Formats: sequence, C-alpha cells, structure tokens
Amino acid sequence: MQFAELAAAYERLEGTPKRLEMRAILADLFRPLKPPELDRVLYLSQGMLRPEYEGVELGVADSLARKAVGVATHTPEPDVARRAKEAGDLGLVVVQLLTERPRLVADDPLTVAQVYSELERIAAANGPGSQETKVRVLTELLGRATPVEGKFLVRFVLGTLRVGVREMTILDALAVVFADGSKAARTRIEAAFNLSSDLGLVAGALVAGSLDGLATIQLQVGRPVRPMLAEREPTLAAVLERMEGRAAVEYKYDGLRMQAHVAADGTVRLFSRRLEETSAQFPELVRELPKALHSLPAIVEGECVPIDLETDEIQPFQEVSRRRGRKHDLAQAQEEIPVCLFLFDVLLAGGTAVWELDLPERRATLESIVRPNERVRLATQRIVTTADEATAFLDEAVAAGGEGLMAKSVAAGSGYRAGARGYWWIKYKRDYTVGLTDSIDGVVVGAFPGRGRRAGHYGAFLLAAYDATRDRFESFCKVGSGFDDAALAEMPRRLAPFRTDEKPAEVASSLVPDHWFRPGLVLEVRGAELTLSPVHPAGLGAVRAGVGFALRFPRFTGRIREEKGPTDATTTAELLHMYRSQVRQAAGTSDS
Ligand code: AMP
Repeated sequence: MQFAELAAAYERLEGTPKRLEMRAILADLFRPLKPPELDRVLYLSQGMLRPEYEGVELGVADSLARKAVGVATHTPEPDVARRAKEAGDLGLVVVQLLTERPRLVADDPLTVAQVYSELERIAAANGPGSQETKVRVLTELLGRATPVEGKFLVRFVLGTLRVGVREMTILDALAVVFADGSKAARTRIEAAFNLSSDLGLVAGALVAGSLDGLATIQLQVGRPVRPMLAEREPTLAAVLERMEGRAAVEYKYDGLRMQAHVAADGTVRLFSRRLEETSAQFPELVRELPKALHSLPAIVEGECVPIDLETDEIQPFQEVSRRRGRKHDLAQAQEEIPVCLFLFDVLLAGGTAVWELDLPERRATLESIVRPNERVRLATQRIVTTADEATAFLDEAVAAGGEGLMAKSVAAGSGYRAGARGYWWIKYKRDYTVGLTDSIDGVVVGAFPGRGRRAGHYGAFLLAAYDATRDRFESFCKVGSGFDDAALAEMPRRLAPFRTDEKPAEVASSLVPDHWFRPGLVLEVRGAELTLSPVHPAGLGAVRAGVGFALRFPRFTGRIREEKGPTDATTTAELLHMYRSQVRQAAGTSDS
C-alpha cells in the first residue's frame, strides 16, 4: 500500500467528528489489507508501532523533529521553530514548507512498508549517536514525503497523531470489514482485544478465520489482559441491592494495580493498570512472586501498597507512587519504601485459564495456589448479605488502612470481564454519603501563573473531565490549593511534555488559561460539592441546558494519578452520577 493512501485516509478522518463516518473510512482502509500490512496500519493509526504494552517508543523530541524538518526542507532551524510556535503544530509547518519547496525526487513514492520499517529504525536507535540516526532517518523520510504525508509523519513521531481514532472506533471498523458490523460481532471482537491487548493479533485472527478465528486468541503469559473495572453506587444499601443481596466484599487497598505474569520457569513480568511494564521498579515482587505461587504458569492480579514491615501497617499511597517510574537507586527505594502485593484475582493458574469462572471459584483457586509471605498476600474478603454487615466490614477495611471496600458479584456470570466497567464490581469509598467526599480525577488542560510566593511557578491549574460521548475534555474547576512547595515546583517538569501553544481541539473550556496543555496529566482533587455552572462546560446540558458541572472549593489531594491516562480520568457521566447522589442526599432520601 502506498503511504499516500494512508495519509489521505487520515486527512479524511481528521475532517470528520462523526463516529459513523470514521468507521466507514477506516473500514475502506482496512478492507483490502492482509497481515502484516494490516497490523502495521492498525498500529500506525493508533499512533504506535507495536501494541501499547510493548512500550516501544520513538524517542523523538520536538527539537529533533524541528531539526529534521529544517534539513529536509532547507529551512534554517530558527525559522522552523518560529513557524511551529505560530502554528502550534509542527505538522502544519511541514505542509507549508513542503508545499513552498517542492521535493527534489518527485517520483519515488513512499510505501507503508517502507515508512514502517524506517520508523522502526528510529525507535531502535539507542545510545551514542542515536540522535543523529533519528534525525537522518526522519530527514530522509520527509525528503520523500508529499506535504500531507509529511504532516502525518511528523505528528506520528511526536506522538501527536490525532486523527481522532480511538481503539473503540477501530474495533467498530473491524466488525464491519470482517463480520456484519452488528453489535454482537463487535462485542466478540472487543472481547478478543480485551484479552490480548493487541489489535494486530485480533485482526490477524479475523483474517484467518473471521469471527470464529477469534477463538485462537487465548490468555498468554507476558501479554497483559485489559483490567476489569468497577462502577460506583452512593450507598452500601444500593450496592447490596445491585448484587441481589449477596456480595463478596474486599478491602479496597489504595495503591497501584498490578497484573503479575509468572512463567513456568519463574520469570515474572508486572503490568500496571495501563498495561505498562513495571517489573524493573519492583524487584522484590519479581523475586517473591514465584516463591508465593505454587502452580505455574500463572496470571494474578492485586494491588501493590507500601507497607511498614516493622508494624505490618499499610502506608499512605503517596509513598508507593514515589517508586513508580524510578530508574535509579532501586535498591535504596526498596529499603525506604517496602511494598506488598495484595492479590485479589487469578486469570491463569497452573497453565489453565480460569478467568471465565465465577468469582467464588476464582477466589478458591487463588487461595489454593498462593502461599502468602511477607510481600505477597491475599486481599481480605468476606461474604455479606446485609448493608449492616457491609458497613461493619467497611469500618474494618478503613481501620486497616484501606480507602473503602470493593463489592464483587458472586452470582452466576461473575467471570472476569476484561476491559469492562460494570456493576459486577462496585467500589465504595468511605464517607461517600456525606457531602462530596469522593475524590475526582481531573486532567490538567491549562495553568495560570502564580503570585506572591508562587511567582515564577504555575499557581493554579485548569482541570477537565472526560466526556466519552463527545470524546473531549471539558473543564470543571480551577484548582490552586492543596499544593505544597515541592508539588508546585515539580509541576512544570510534569507538564512539559504536554505543553502546547494553543487550546487543543479536544479541550472545551470557557476560561482561558495562560498556558494550555494537551490532556495527559491526571490529578486527584476533592471538593465540597458539585454545582451547576455556566462557566464550566463539563457535562454541558446533562442536567439543564447551557450549564455544566463545577467543583466548589477544589483542593489537590497531593496525589498525581500516574496510572491513569486522560480518558481514565473521572468522566462527565460519573460527575452526573455524583451530582445526582448529592441531590438525593440533600433531599433526605439517602439511607445510610
Ligand atoms: P479506582 O482507581 O478508584 O477506579 O478504583 C479501582 C481500583 O481499586 C482498581 O483498579 C484497583 O487498582 C484498586 N483495588 C484496590 N483493592 C481492590 C480489590 N480488592 N479488588 C479490586 N480492585 C482493588
């Protein structure tokens, strides 16, 4: 396939916000393709070279890309930089420059295969001399590119390819190409993706055997499963009602979710909630897991929390977040901040897939394969049948250092639902029912300069919630309190990768901050209540036309939600839910 065809499809995708049109464009794009070209086009369309969990990165910084653009178009670098600042998008600058300065080699069109292998070279370049290699390869590609091709190439390498295609739309398109486009077909394809986290693999199975081909996709040690997610309810009575009067309740540990893959030879790979590999940061778990599990290979899930090994007490979450992402002084970090993994689920035991079994059977399996030790333990679980029993368990969980409880269905059909959020699991944090004490995870989309002691730093941030229907990030508060000096001083570095000169297209806000950011960094905030606001567009129109939700008296909790991506932040649908339960309480109808 010619790269021009792919670029033309991206151009069309960029021009439409309509999901149905996107689906049709993608379906036309995928239809004629076979593996490995199909896989490549799928990964490229997601802005990646390989499935996300493999963590393949191009390692191309803005300055490097500007340099390549300069060389390829014979433009001095400062000019490129100036134009990029003005346009707010290096991709658009490439279009201008390549149009102004036509290519020398006009009839050597790029193919998708060539572009993909050159991008692989860029990703593979490491160590001394790698920057030069990256610039050279990118320059060569741009030298052969048409303006439109150049635009998408540059956006791709900078990680800003935003043609608006999310996984969900790609899955829709696959259902059209390889089945009848029905909801049922789409559900089966999505299930295979949730189990494998690899769209290329799913597409390969579909090409080989249509929907039935998906049966070849099984759990595999080393390939993470997309995690099952929880819903929420405002009261424990409502939780019990959802569970039809009988539920397994577990401590809700406040830490990092971890999926541990332990191979038959004892090799361990740990994956975060976002499927990033974190094995290197937790060597003691890598060491202890094979000792604690006696039926390998196995895939288990748990929450990793900091623990005081002297007193056996769970420590505040902030401690463990200091270990995540750490590359140096690992030994010291291990000593300073010891962690423990509380296991709550099992997907594969002794090589047998058990994820489809109902929860009670999975729990029994888990108990039978785990020999708990200091570092690997079982999550505390109990079966309850009344709200009072659940309340007593909640008190116990909080006293033990948990942040609340997780209620889980024990009914028929309570198998592990990879990648799905539903009422099979319900999270309930303490004090949910008195005012708005549940926290909200907001995406930073803007910042305002600080004053007084904060002069020279950012002083406040504009936070947004994710609206899945409109597929955009809508502001709900400006937050300045709750940041200590250290947290504030750290923010510029944290936010630097997301800085952009103009309001990103996917952001909605009527406040205009001094600095804009692409959605990336997620902060946890608390506030007094959710109010209806004409200033913020979050959930606009959900309650009343023309108003959205605003968080009153917002305060940063000190917690950066590193494990959450922007679309994992609190959604506007969740804000609506929280708003409604507040209104119910105010009306005195709350029952606990
Ligand atoms: P939240 O991050 O607030 O959406 O809450 C869901 C998260 O709670 C899960 O993704 C886990 O990381 C965490 N968690 C803590 N304890 C448990 C448990 N016993 N079962 C399932 N998830 C748990």
